Amino acid sequence: YCKVRGRDHVLLYSDDMNQSYNHLLSLESSLRKAILNNELTLHYQPKVDVRTGGINGIEALVRWNHAENGWISPGEFIPLAEEAGMISQIDEWVMGEACRQTKEWLKQGFAAERVAVNVSATEIQQENYSNKVKKVLEQNKLPSSYLEIEVTENSVMQNSTECIRTMQELKSMGVTLSIDDFGTGYSSLSYLRQFPIHNLKIDQTFIKSVKTGPSDAEIVKAIIQMADAFKLGVVAEGVECENVLAFLRENQCESYQGYYFSKPLPPNEIKEFLSKSTKYRHNKNPNLH
Ligand code: C2E
Ligand code: MG
Ligand code: MG
Ligand code: MG
Repeated sequence: YCKVRGRDHVLLYSDDMNQSYNHLLSLESSLRKAILNNELTLHYQPKVDVRTGGINGIEALVRWNHAENGWISPGEFIPLAEEAGMISQIDEWVMGEACRQTKEWLKQGFAAERVAVNVSATEIQQENYSNKVKKVLEQNKLPSSYLEIEVTENSVMQNSTECIRTMQELKSMGVTLSIDDFGTGYSSLSYLRQFPIHNLKIDQTFIKSVKTGPSDAEIVKAIIQMADAFKLGVVAEGVECENVLAFLRENQCESYQGYYFSKPLPPNEIKEFLSKSTKYRHNKNPNLH
């Protein structure tokens, strides 16, 4: 077991330190290679309007196809990349690729209203972060209204003054901001009001047990109501069945994501989805974008 903490890279270990340290080093070098060798790829999961059933956005989720070990899930390598101080390279690649892909789809005449990328705490806390985003948008000639950034509740709490400033810059640029995994941290919604955010994404742990755990149902209802009072959009994550969707409809939750509608899909498959969803087709003239 091995953990690298923060910027000063303090190692904690319980068994074979060398083995763990080597593991981390090899992961670090293979992650570097992964970026160079195009082993990273993006899958996209639709965000769906609860009332109409139409797609109102997509979320880019990184996938790593390791040369020897096969697919490695972001749940595994993102935390390690954060600990090894490598997350910035991944998040940069993801944002660039998501913007490039969205622009390409727009040129072909269709795209989702918006593409969301997940950004780690250390990334958004950089002083020049909003400039970095601006450059990526400019390089891809993508209007800022197509980009959404998801940051977890816990990550914005870590360094709230910095984050609020950066988020204000991003918001005034026209980027949409969402709080991911909402409900898992300890922030009150009234505290969160200081953050210039557009949407809350309710963590899937609450959504999953909405029909079995009465207290989770109450939490979800309360989040929906408070978000409404604060004029925030709400997205329920991890919807896997019709029962849960019915609950969300009854309680007027705006949007949802989950395997019930679609798992995250590779670009060619999500493209199919988007091209069928004529409602969200964009103007054929790429010069307009
Ligand atoms: P997240 O942003 O909260 O993404 C939701 C996760 O739930 C995704 O897992 C998605 O595949 C999964 N999911 C969606 N619907 C369902 C469902 O109905 N049931 C279940 N059981 N799961 C569902 P994934 O793709 O493995 O990503 C895990 C986490 O890794 C993400 O959580 C996000 O925090 C992080 N991540 C993914 N891509 C990136 C990235 O490019 N940068 C950073 N910094 N983090 C990323
Ligand atoms: Mg997310
Ligand atoms: Mg989430
Ligand atoms: Mg998550």
